[in-house]
Amino acid sequence: MGLESIYGEILNEHNLRPSHRGNISGATIRLEGKNPTCGDDIYLELKVGEDGIIEDGAFSGSGCAISQASVDIMLDMIIGESKERALELCGKFMGMIHGKATEDDLDDLDEAAALKDISHMPARVKCAVLGWHTMEEMLKNRESEGHARGEHEYCTTE
Ligand SMILES: [Zn+2]
Repeated sequence: MGLESIYGEILNEHNLRPSHRGNISGATIRLEGKNPTCGDDIYLELKVGEDGIIEDGAFSGSGCAISQASVDIMLDMIIGESKERALELCGKFMGMIHGKATEDDLDDLDEAAALKDISHMPARVKCAVLGWHTMEEMLKNRESEGHARGEHEYCTTE
């Protein structure tokens, strides 16, 4: 399979002009996510309101094109949504990457479905899931006042 089929227009766009690269003010959770296999290293920030709505989010760090496009697409999809909805999308994304998505799942995943073919490239799976895995870890396990600083914590795809 050629790279052409994976680096579709959607992925290119998110690489060249990421919407959510940078920092946000008032982040309530921050976590670094690492994929040692490829060398991807992202730093994800989310601002979650008291009502459980993800009000804003951003990422920084460096990594391959797939890891960066994937996290940018993810932030597009989860900002404005509830934590529960974000985790639901995460579950569908993980299913898709492991080749188990239904047509309905793919519809629901919207732009993230551009990464579907990664399921045929085992070496890149961790790149594609890095942002989602980090977000899941944040929402499930890291949400507390003490983790807002989080400078020396990280999660990994290993
Ligand atoms: Zn990578």
